Amino acid sequence: MKYYEKTIAQALAMMDRGELSAVELTRSCLDRIDEIDQDIRAFITVDRDGALCQAEVADSKRKAGKAGKLCGIPLSIKDLLSTKGMRTTCGSKILADYIPPYDATVVSRLKMEDAVIIGKVSMDEFAMGSTSETCAFGVPRNPWKKGYVAGGSSGGSAASVAAYECLASLGSDTGGSIRQPASLCGVVGLKPTYGRVSRFGLTAFASSLDQVGPICRTVEDCALMMNVISGYDRLDSTSVRQEVPDYTASPTPGLKGVRVGVPREYFSAGLDSEVEAIVRNSVEVLKGKGAEIVDVSLPHTEYCVAVYYLIAPSEASSNLARYDGVHYGYRNLEADSLLEMYKRSRSEGFGAEVKRRILIGTYALSSGYYDAYYRKASQVRTLILNDFKKAFESCDLLISPVTPTAAWRMGENTDDPLAVYMSDILTISANLAGVPGMSVPGGVTAAGLPVGVQLQGAHFREEILLRAGFNLEQELRLTCGKADID
Ligand code: GLN
Repeated sequence: MKYYEKTIAQALAMMDRGELSAVELTRSCLDRIDEIDQDIRAFITVDRDGALCQAEVADSKRKAGKAGKLCGIPLSIKDLLSTKGMRTTCGSKILADYIPPYDATVVSRLKMEDAVIIGKVSMDEFAMGSTSETCAFGVPRNPWKKGYVAGGSSGGSAASVAAYECLASLGSDTGGSIRQPASLCGVVGLKPTYGRVSRFGLTAFASSLDQVGPICRTVEDCALMMNVISGYDRLDSTSVRQEVPDYTASPTPGLKGVRVGVPREYFSAGLDSEVEAIVRNSVEVLKGKGAEIVDVSLPHTEYCVAVYYLIAPSEASSNLARYDGVHYGYRNLEADSLLEMYKRSRSEGFGAEVKRRILIGTYALSSGYYDAYYRKASQVRTLILNDFKKAFESCDLLISPVTPTAAWRMGENTDDPLAVYMSDILTISANLAGVPGMSVPGGVTAAGLPVGVQLQGAHFREEILLRAGFNLEQELRLTCGKADID
């Protein structure tokens, strides 16, 4: 087994025993990137020298008995989390040369625990999309099958972990962007409860929905990452002052006494039969581990796409107003008036999907339409939240598909935005309700594409997801990640 194939837990144990150094591990990932990233295209920026420097420091800290919790572990970071001194593009031309003067709280927490930040990875522009194809700097490929999308918007995160270019990654999830690419690339992705993880330094897309979370090759590794990134941050007023449990205590065998709800609306028309079979099989696995299976209903599921695609663009249209060519980012230098400069900077800097969202959001918030669209959507959002509250009266977690299909071919849906929006139907509701959601590999289709299973829990019940996910992982023993690139 190559060093880069190790899980975080394995690598930490080896380094603690003196069988592996952080420099060797980091070199192994950097070599891997050299070898395959021209095919995978996960990385926008690779910080070779910086990573090796951090690895050297990690080795000396370990020798001095001062190793942090992720000492020497090479990680990739979605390119919308601020990294001090390292370019952060958000996948957009408008931020092509932006170098943040500060670290996002999650990044500084990783650094404090001596993780090695190896580089920044590709994503849909401003996290708007489901395939990473709207990235202005190279579209990541699915490591499982040539010509297929890696998913999005954290496609670079999932592809880099699945292709063994790093041990884990941080992504962000506004409507499924951690869980969906994790599912399509056969790795584990966890979107924590809204407020569990600080959003300070996460470039805002839709502030009431955005959340940062880990993408890893095992459930245990997700727990290790969660222990480091979770918790209150005075720099993010929406982060919650609530004690952080030791998540590594959660992955335990057996599910006696756990009630697993199967939401009937998540198995409706449009669900691919192979995906359905994989999820149904996972239900049986959980049952075999002692869980009680209950039938539940989330009756407002059919409104989720409409509600999300009003609320998310509305918030985005406001958040993206800051890219005006004045403070930072791209500026058109030929305009001869201020208004012209605003117009040309934004028209030239943003891609088509981002412009579409700004237009939808501006329309939905405009006077005369606000009540009919934005206010109505907010009211229905409460009904969706209530669905979850009611469901969690009769079960501890929900099991469902992550996406209606496995990965599709690159370019397939690029001129049909509505078809892509519809594919988010199963992940969006967790963000609208603020509950945690996780994707765990459930199986592989006949065509050789991985399919994830989604687990959702009540607010701040990440532990039950990690426990159920671990049980699935143990039983299914799927290869997580893909070493042999097609
Ligand atoms: N696919 C969804 C969108 O395009 C979700 C994106 C996300 O979670 N960042 O908005």
